[in-house]
Amino acid sequence: MSELVRTALVTGGTRGIGKAIVKKLAGLGYQVYFTYVSRPELAEAVCAEVMADGGAARGFLLDASDWDAVADFFATEIKDKVSLELLVNNAGITKDGLIMRMKREQWEQVIQINLTGAFVCLQQAAKIMLKQRKGRIVNISSVVGQMGNAGQANYCASKAGLIGLTKAAALELGSRGITVNAIAPGFIETDMTETLPQDVRDKYLERIPLGRLGSAQAIADAVAYLASDQAEYITGQVLGINGGMYL
Ligand code: NAD
Repeated sequence: MSELVRTALVTGGTRGIGKAIVKKLAGLGYQVYFTYVSRPELAEAVCAEVMADGGAARGFLLDASDWDAVADFFATEIKDKVSLELLVNNAGITKDGLIMRMKREQWEQVIQINLTGAFVCLQQAAKIMLKQRKGRIVNISSVVGQMGNAGQANYCASKAGLIGLTKAAALELGSRGITVNAIAPGFIETDMTETLPQDVRDKYLERIPLGRLGSAQAIADAVAYLASDQAEYITGQVLGINGGMYL
């Protein structure tokens, strides 16, 4: 196993928080595999940026919530080919709406990608990590999974579900040297948040004691910490990175 390349897998790595995580991990010497679902030019750009910095990254067009496609991906690209040291379940979407107006597709798509997708990848990664008797898994949840947010019942439920998944997986996998933790970002400056109207942003800002939005880099740094030797005794935890945000 030791001759295999030390690899991290990040879902949704073409932009925002995922891209920052890919670049951070590549800078730490991991070979980084990342998934994406659209805009292959962004994936190419991420790989080029990583390479220019002396690192190694590969993008895979893969819907991280497609059970069969994910199983095929792990069988062909991961198993016996690399040493999978870290999985970061980062892929996520929002489809906001009030409960009374929420359509079935809005509910199902968000749960499917944010929660089921994380489970599918975690299950496949755990199969490999159990054999290695080591591994780290980090799930990107959200402050709204801890506190709720009006107009985001689907998203909040998916992110709260990720916390439950994190805690259950930490219990099941801990005895085999695998840690599983969640990061709950607050309000982070990315494509996901840039479309919010100014009045909504201002309302959020009032609730952030540090008085500013967070950066994708802050989340990437926390992932790096949870993947590091310094975090070897941390599992089943939710690390809030939110400027003290309350909702
Ligand atoms: P983003 O929309 O900028 O990027 C999301 C990434 O996920 C993209 O690369 C996209 O291609 C990918 N993706 C979407 N569906 C996918 C799928 N089915 N399979 C594989 N990849 C898929 O989002 P972001 O703001 O960078 O957020 C990243 C994560 O952090 C998400 O899980 C999000 O819920 C969470 N988060 C974000 C914030 C914030 O303020 N931006 C706050 C809390 C939590």
